[in-house]
Amino acid sequence: MYLQLNNLKKIFDEVPAVNGLSIDIEEGEMVSLVGPSGCGKTTTLKMVGGFVSPDEGAITLDREDITELPPEKRPTATVFQSYALFPHMTVLQNVAYGLKFRGIKKKAALRTAEEMLERVGLTTSQEKTIHQLSGGEQQRVALARALVIRPKVLLMDEPLSNLDAKLRIRMRSEIRRIQRDMAITAIYVTHDQEEALALSDRIAVMEKGIVAQTGTPYEIYSHPDTSFVADFIGRSNFVDMGDGRRAAIHPEDVSLSWDGGDFTGTIIGRQFKGAMTTYSVRVGQSTMEADVLSRDDPRWDEGNPVHLKLNRDKLVYLD
Ligand code: ADP
Ligand code: MG
Repeated sequence: MYLQLNNLKKIFDEVPAVNGLSIDIEEGEMVSLVGPSGCGKTTTLKMVGGFVSPDEGAITLDREDITELPPEKRPTATVFQSYALFPHMTVLQNVAYGLKFRGIKKKAALRTAEEMLERVGLTTSQEKTIHQLSGGEQQRVALARALVIRPKVLLMDEPLSNLDAKLRIRMRSEIRRIQRDMAITAIYVTHDQEEALALSDRIAVMEKGIVAQTGTPYEIYSHPDTSFVADFIGRSNFVDMGDGRRAAIHPEDVSLSWDGGDFTGTIIGRQFKGAMTTYSVRVGQSTMEADVLSRDDPRWDEGNPVHLKLNRDKLVYLD
């Protein structure tokens, strides 16, 4: 395995932030760490980058134990949420900085920096200073600055959270394209499950300092192992089956009709979302959500009785 995080532990003020976390990452793979705020994502990433020293466990990269190496000696580069760019330097100087710091001659450093800026789609703004750039452009500079040193592992901590929704989605695919082009191994930290599903080869869902489940986005979405994962990834309805077991099902696998179906309920809400419309349905003591294609929406009103049918193949039995 190219990058191994092995049983990492970090305790702050007697409270474990990371509590025995292990993940194996292949060369060229992009793995997302996803989980709610406070579950230990940033602490994990900082241990890989060398900014936090683990209390227990080891990190191996390309057969080398890097657990105790200082950040500047590690073949890793981090893109932070805040970008951490140098405001008084030009775009080009920002990107060339890491190379000069590593003793590369100015001319060669600038040429390599120019190439990297081209890769991230920023060629016209090289002489601008950072505050003359939009948020999306600053994001590209931060990415170029991290990549220019050709790290073995690229670490990203919620890199898109300062951008507006539309730009976030565009940058998401840009980051993925660049990561694939350069075949760079990457860890991507986000609390946004949709982002993780969209851009990862694999996802590690974190819960309270440990990995709750790893798998491809499809595996995690369609076969969550626990209620926590089912609840966190996508939207899930929980159904108590007659046999005492609990199951989860996504809203797109619940269909509504005037009659027939598995059980009945009452419409209590309707949200138009463009292509899809989500209905909330009161069923006994619980509420279920059902997605319908807006173009097929019969437009039920609040208070209407409806029949619900579950797509049995998609039911996931839990715990
Ligand atoms: P996430 O990135 O998933 O939101 P963090 O790794 O930042 O989570 O934090 C995990 C836990 O560790 C939180 O409870 C946080 O308050 C705590 N923590 C993180 N860094 C420190 C620190 N330097 N000192 C004390 N507690 C910390
Ligand atoms: Mg964090």
